[in-house]
Amino acid sequence: MSKNIVVAIDGYSSCGKSTLAKALAKKLHFIYVDSGAMYRAVTLYFLRNKIDVNNEEQVHEALQNIHLNFHSRDYETHITLNDEEVSDEIRLMPVSENVSAVSAIREVRKEMVAQQQRMSRSKNVIMDGRDIGTAVFPHAQVKLFMTADPKIRAERRYKELAPKNPDITLEDVFENLAHRDYADTTRKESPLVRAEDAIILDNTNLTPDEQLAFALSKIEPFLKK
Ligand code: C5P
Repeated sequence: MSKNIVVAIDGYSSCGKSTLAKALAKKLHFIYVDSGAMYRAVTLYFLRNKIDVNNEEQVHEALQNIHLNFHSRDYETHITLNDEEVSDEIRLMPVSENVSAVSAIREVRKEMVAQQQRMSRSKNVIMDGRDIGTAVFPHAQVKLFMTADPKIRAERRYKELAPKNPDITLEDVFENLAHRDYADTTRKESPLVRAEDAIILDNTNLTPDEQLAFALSKIEPFLKK
């Protein structure tokens, strides 16, 4: 049996990683895994249960009690935390404001990476995140590193969040993205960094269709093997 294909998509916050990943998964019939949703769900559990991120024992115990599952419907991310669907709640500001601190914890990363690696065992997979091409799948056949102008990113994210969050401002979103980019690129454990063999995709001036065509052109050679 031929080896499964892994497409790793990393990059800054709100660069359109998940939009591209979903479109690719649909086109290629690969499974799509939004690794950020996993860190967000862990963060939601920590917030609800008042877990102190500096208390190793509390973190360890919390991780034993967290069970995450993905249910793919139309390639949208539906994630459950201990059997409760939390897909909407993990996108709200309290989680966005705390997720970088939670995802910087070594034990949290170790557990998430192990779960992510298991997901590619029997299927072709597209996974997006911050450390997919460097730590989770260093041998992925295709690695993309996405970037875009920070103002454009904040505007895109604001448009997405505003309908469900009437109190949110563009400044809040801009600051949250800047904060997360800083925290994610400077943390000790698996910081966000471009893998040496990752292809840069700056989508500031690209339509979703143009990004899809670009990514497909990089993946197609591996489909024929
Ligand atoms: O992708 P998304 O913006 O939903 O990710 C939320 C946060 O989860 C990121 O800001 C980052 O702190 C963390 N994350 C991570 N490693 C990943 C995916 C996400 O540290 N592979």
